[in-house]
Amino acid sequence: MSGTRSTNGGKNRKLNTCSFCGKSHREAGPMVEGADDVFICAACVELCYNLVREERRRNNKTRAPLKAIPKPREILEFLEQYVVGQTMAKRALSVAVHNHYKRLAHGETATEEDVELDKSNVLLIGPTGSGKTLLARSLARVLNVPFAIGDATTLTEAGYVGEDVENILLKLLQNADYDLDAAQRGIIYIDEIDKIGKTWNNVSITRDVSGEGVQQALLKMLEGTVANIPPQGGRKHPEQQYIQMDTSNILFICGGTFVGLDKIIRKRLGQKRIGFNEQQSSADEQRELKQLLAQVQPDDLIEFGMIPEFVGRLPVICPLEPLDESALIRILTEPRNALVAQYQKLFEFENAKLEFTETALRAIAEKAQKRDTGARALRAVVEEFMLPYMFELPDLKKNGEYRVTREVVIGEEDLLAPGRRRKESA
Ligand code: ADP
Repeated sequence: MSGTRSTNGGKNRKLNTCSFCGKSHREAGPMVEGADDVFICAACVELCYNLVREERRRNNKTRAPLKAIPKPREILEFLEQYVVGQTMAKRALSVAVHNHYKRLAHGETATEEDVELDKSNVLLIGPTGSGKTLLARSLARVLNVPFAIGDATTLTEAGYVGEDVENILLKLLQNADYDLDAAQRGIIYIDEIDKIGKTWNNVSITRDVSGEGVQQALLKMLEGTVANIPPQGGRKHPEQQYIQMDTSNILFICGGTFVGLDKIIRKRLGQKRIGFNEQQSSADEQRELKQLLAQVQPDDLIEFGMIPEFVGRLPVICPLEPLDESALIRILTEPRNALVAQYQKLFEFENAKLEFTETALRAIAEKAQKRDTGARALRAVVEEFMLPYMFELPDLKKNGEYRVTREVVIGEEDLLAPGRRRKESA
């Protein structure tokens, strides 16, 4: 530090106390001396440093993400790198998210006469493992904003056993490293939002029976409120201050499977089931489901059991398609962090090469599809048959080349001894 010198054990012992906290050199350890006999101890240096850094970060961050809001096209291009298919949802989300952050930027420079832009929270409707969470997470990544996930089924109204709605806000704040400004511009994904519909019977007895109370509590957050967040680790003393968090600029993305919503839409449209009396192939069924969900209206969601005010706060509705076999194969290979590439990397670390044949990829997709959890099943399927090999991998000879075939996937061939049956499954 220029202009200062360490005075530990210095000549003027009388003044050797920290000018900031008043502790003596004996209590506080080595100190730094400034001009005019001013001293500062190590703890106070650190405290001041943190205060200055926090202030600087606040000033920078308030504007940083708003300076360069990616265009819808740029957001879409980013999503394309991670999310396979779901073209409609990706486009709708790119526009909605761009507008949301435009609205924030606009808010900072708005004058009294300006038109106020409404917040456009998003509802994603699609089966399990179709990419709802992945989409929300990728959006937070492209915008470089904090992100948190909550599950509506675990939420309760204050006073009931379970997780308070405010806990999701706390998670967001934690993920923002307690930078309140950043958290207030973050994205929250709430999963299983359909399970708090009024008509949903499968609610836990610890929660209000209708689920309406939770919807009301969530509604407040979605509309924009100043919520009281307990400090890190909960309130240890009654006098400890709550953190006040304004939710008006947080983008809420809600997701749900909404099983049975297609029937409500079909009824409204006065359509009969295609092929009601004949055997309908699963491809036909999926096509029909997709075509019906694309026509979803807010009223259908109200009929499903969501309260009208809640639906009103989710103006952007994006249906997602169920993923078919070819989409699952693409998911295995195409995204930047695709599963196949991840396994290849693990082999590479051991100086080995790994290859998956086309038929092997198809066999993995077929196996995954049987589990009815969309792309979520892919990892489990691959992990199951790869586990014994991952166990042996570090002991294998260097520069080996291995090929995952359909037979390896179904356990009939040994990856490490091509042409031979695996011992365990023989
Ligand atoms: P959901 O929220 O719809 O139940 P997730 O987004 O959690 O599904 O998907 C689970 C996993 O499956 C993701 O982490 C991702 O690896 C994969 N996945 C799902 N859908 C897609 C998709 N459309 N494109 C790429 N990967 C996907």
